[in-house]
Amino acid sequence: MGNKSRPNELISADDLARIVAFTKDKATPCLVMDLEKVGERYDELLQAMPGARIYYALKANPLDDVVALLRDRGASFDVASRFEIDQLLTLNVSPERMSYGNTIKKESDIAYAYQKGIRVFTTDSRSDVEKLARSAPGALLNFRLLLDGTGADWPLSKKFGAHPDMLYKLVKFAKKSGLTPYGISFHVGSQQRDIGQWDSAIALVKYLFDALASDGINLESINLGGGLPAQYLKPAQGVAAYTGSIIQFLNEDFPERKLALVVEPGRSLVADAGVIVSEVVMVSKKSDTNRTRWVYLDVGKFNGLIETTDEAIKYPILFPGRDGKEEWSEVVLAGPTCDSADILYENYRYKVPNNLKEGERVYILTTGAYTMSYSSICFNGFPPLAVHVLPPK
Ligand SMILES: *Cc1c(COP(=O)(O)O)cnc(C)c1O
Repeated sequence: MGNKSRPNELISADDLARIVAFTKDKATPCLVMDLEKVGERYDELLQAMPGARIYYALKANPLDDVVALLRDRGASFDVASRFEIDQLLTLNVSPERMSYGNTIKKESDIAYAYQKGIRVFTTDSRSDVEKLARSAPGALLNFRLLLDGTGADWPLSKKFGAHPDMLYKLVKFAKKSGLTPYGISFHVGSQQRDIGQWDSAIALVKYLFDALASDGINLESINLGGGLPAQYLKPAQGVAAYTGSIIQFLNEDFPERKLALVVEPGRSLVADAGVIVSEVVMVSKKSDTNRTRWVYLDVGKFNGLIETTDEAIKYPILFPGRDGKEEWSEVVLAGPTCDSADILYENYRYKVPNNLKEGERVYILTTGAYTMSYSSICFNGFPPLAVHVLPPK
């Protein structure tokens, strides 16, 4: 039953009806973005973390309309490449509202960002600090702490950050190199449902702040990264539960310190605002004796659902018009392409109506984050995921 009931809690009958009507004559698959929801999530986070600056991590959903909405609400932006910088500049976001959060950069990209006016960068290695000293003299630096992403459904694992002892040396090296140490940043892993992960990260930040203060370097900022969860099949608490605890951890570890707080949400601002409309391409079985049904959708790993890798993210799926009286049974769900990796869920079995028909539309919820930005441009000739903005109520 599991997936029959939960999706219904995640979208109102009204909102679903609007999406069904809006996409009636549109080709599938497509992503429908409800921008009002993005605005609500942004306002909610701002209220839950008063005084914090919100840097939206563009990679979660770089749609111009999403950027423009957040720009008009006063958000700043975390960028990872010169291309994101160009997109933001084209949309009239000023460089003071951008920080270059990717620790992996070519020196030419650092120079480009600096020349465009960006003055805040994140770093985690000596080589990057040397490049920054040459090509972004005086810039403000955040130093990224290595965390292992434990507890996250989509861990960013070991790729980013450095061990605290190495960061400590790096801060001193950066200062000597003419750069301006500004703060410590971290990311607890994306779709992090364990609040305790922020607690241990903040404790490490405190250790670094104290060690550096005794050397006369007073850092001013903590960048809490992203990781705040969205609502998929596995329930997560609301964002306010996380921010409430984070503020409490900060008050305990930094009781009298005035800190510049930064959050870099991606997923939590956009995921719940998106619904992918998809069509059932085929329903089949592999042999007369094998009872497992395979259901192939027209959306898969290469046109939006890459986060089904290792079945990490389990999207709620709706089959509207099903009254619940018919029989449902477990199936394997797969995408449309000729790559065997394009199986969505094989271990976790979704239940679908027994008489699900080819050509029928299904609605995949919580797909506003990491779908369009991850979709390939023409694998098997399939185009990137189409995106439509839902007309306001
Ligand atoms: C991806 C990313 C984020 C956003 O993470 P979410 O888990 O989507 O909130 C924030 N900061 C950095 C540096 C990132 O790379």
